[in-house]
Amino acid sequence: MEEFLHFIGRNCSQHMIPLTNTIRINPERLWSRIMEMAQFGATPAGGCNRQALTDADKAGRDLFIRWCREAGCDIRIDEIGNIFARRPGGEPDLPPVITGSHLDTQPSGGKFDGIYGVLAGLELVETLNDAGVTTRHPLEIVVWTNEEGCRFDTAMMGSAVWSSAMDLDAAYALVDCDGLSVQDELRRTGYRGSRTTTDISVHAAFELHIEQGPVLEDEGKAIGVVTGVQHMSRHRIVILGVEAHAGPTPMALRKDPMMALSIFLPQLYALAAEYGPEGRVTFGFIQVEPGSPNTVPGCLELTVDIRHPNAGNYQAMLERYRECVRAACDSLGLSVEMACVWEAPGVVFDSGCIDAVRQAVETLGYSSRDIVSGAGHDACNISAVAPTSMIFVPCENGLSHNEAEAITPEQAETGANVLLLAVLEKVGITG
Ligand SMILES: [Zn+2]
Repeated sequence: MEEFLHFIGRNCSQHMIPLTNTIRINPERLWSRIMEMAQFGATPAGGCNRQALTDADKAGRDLFIRWCREAGCDIRIDEIGNIFARRPGGEPDLPPVITGSHLDTQPSGGKFDGIYGVLAGLELVETLNDAGVTTRHPLEIVVWTNEEGCRFDTAMMGSAVWSSAMDLDAAYALVDCDGLSVQDELRRTGYRGSRTTTDISVHAAFELHIEQGPVLEDEGKAIGVVTGVQHMSRHRIVILGVEAHAGPTPMALRKDPMMALSIFLPQLYALAAEYGPEGRVTFGFIQVEPGSPNTVPGCLELTVDIRHPNAGNYQAMLERYRECVRAACDSLGLSVEMACVWEAPGVVFDSGCIDAVRQAVETLGYSSRDIVSGAGHDACNISAVAPTSMIFVPCENGLSHNEAEAITPEQAETGANVLLLAVLEKVGITG
């Protein structure tokens, strides 16, 4: 770190005050913009339905671009509709520091998931403008297209294309339930840009986001220093037995898949506890056939979602899961098929970016804890191609993907100030 760059009043060296001790975001401006953005796709229950590339999403994007232009940013839009709003740096050839998130929401989403990170980025630009600061590196605010993956069924789509984790044509070909494609909707809304998605050179990246879980609130911490994202996978289990009459068939002579479930279900909950507190096992879908009250089911289908932040523990949980299910079925003479239907490897964020967040928290005197994200974010894709980390703020009752999703103006201010100082560390200051 070039210490001298972090001081203002360079002509009176005896009384230099670090800029990081004085510069702060404008909380009222940030909050009013979050509330104004929430008008697009507003739902009666106080949430937002602003799914990717709908008219509401277009209106939100248009407003964001207007605000950025008014703040002096140059706007570029890439082929998948990601928006890059650049505040020039003093050394234009240097790669930008980027920060941002997404403006799209779930069908019954909230005002903050994604939006907060985007508008905090804009607030940083306004704050630097107000303070008359010139940074060495350019600063770019990024809006990633279709993070939620609800209208078009691929979450984190825009950042996946940008980072080459997903083919552009495959993304264009995704269709919604009315048969409308991403490509058609990008054209219709005017957001199919020309900037190549392979033009990647980024000095550092930060994503500020609500936690979407209850840990920070439960522990009374103001900031989550996000060190990475969990390993996660989804599995489908199908167990075949023999349908039989519920009355005449003695228990010992049944081929009942539910008996296998009764063995391995407690074992897998115990497994999550054994690898706790970070181990996660979720049975989100379960179905028996034929689904008749007086028939022993002949078929059981269920899903298991398994997560852990530590690679070794995650792999161990996967092995133990397969052993438990196999052994339970074998003991009852049942046939079983297990398939992994989706897997996202965990992410370890960049230590330099994490340190910048830690330093910002320390300077500001906020309480914090390290945390591993349980959900996927655009930052996962970005981290494959650029030094990246995330900042979490608590959200009320840990709720998100919910119209009741809420943070306080103070929480919004806290997170944005941490983002400001972390970004300043990476962009450097020339004047
Ligand atoms: Zn989000």
